[in-house]
Amino acid sequence: MNFLRTYTYGPFQSRRLGLSLGINILPKYKLCTFNCVYCEIGSTDQLVSPNYRIKAPPSPLFRKELKDILKFFPHLDSITFGYNGEPSLNENLLDFHKIASDVREEVEWTQKKPLLTLFTNSSTLHIQDIRERVKQFDLVLAKLDAAIDEDFRRTNNPHQEVPDIETLIDSLVKLKEEMPTNHKLAIQSLIYDSYREDFIPNKNPTNISKLALAIKKIKPDIVQIYSVARIPANYFVFSIDTTRKKQIVQEIQKIVNDQNVEISYY
Ligand code: SF4
Repeated sequence: MNFLRTYTYGPFQSRRLGLSLGINILPKYKLCTFNCVYCEIGSTDQLVSPNYRIKAPPSPLFRKELKDILKFFPHLDSITFGYNGEPSLNENLLDFHKIASDVREEVEWTQKKPLLTLFTNSSTLHIQDIRERVKQFDLVLAKLDAAIDEDFRRTNNPHQEVPDIETLIDSLVKLKEEMPTNHKLAIQSLIYDSYREDFIPNKNPTNISKLALAIKKIKPDIVQIYSVARIPANYFVFSIDTTRKKQIVQEIQKIVNDQNVEISYY
């Protein structure tokens, strides 16, 4: 491959998605409604309201770039939207989705065609228009790290106009109800520890049991528990170990108690 790339990254072998081609539809700087304590792409340059929108439609380059890359990867598993912040902030999200969907039909895949996947931090899902857009994706990976407002604010540092965590949990319930049955919702919870005694990490037992109750309410298809894997935005945050991840999965399984929810850690 020898051409300039504007929208795409990778593909990378992802622990969650298999071979995944990243799509960034945001500006070159990070644009997000959160400033998560563990963010692996650094502190948020521009912390914005969930009502903030940019209008950045795909240029003709997007289709060409995607086509040029995909012909080298007929075994791709996922075309994944969501780098550099919260992708639903781009008003033109579905224009990109449409092009990706069309290009996907034009490629000859050696296995089943890749999923169109969207990462969201869930902060805009209380807006019905946004849920309408998000539910078009085959797989939605929605962030939920906390189910208590204090833990939510400490962990995700949301913009002041982001609603409280109860509202976001209710939005995830609505999203799941509204999604087509052949599309899947995955809740992703990043659980971390802290070196600072005055900073309570979200691994605390009260948050974990509330999180399990929230998941029971949302009824997602998939729950993924994971932890910090790269350099976090804040030095005092670090990864929980595998034993703790397993315990958390078991605790959630016990409370959710639903065979149709696939709960795992990585
Ligand atoms: S939501 Fe994602 S991009 Fe935004 S600050 Fe958190 S981890 Fe970083």
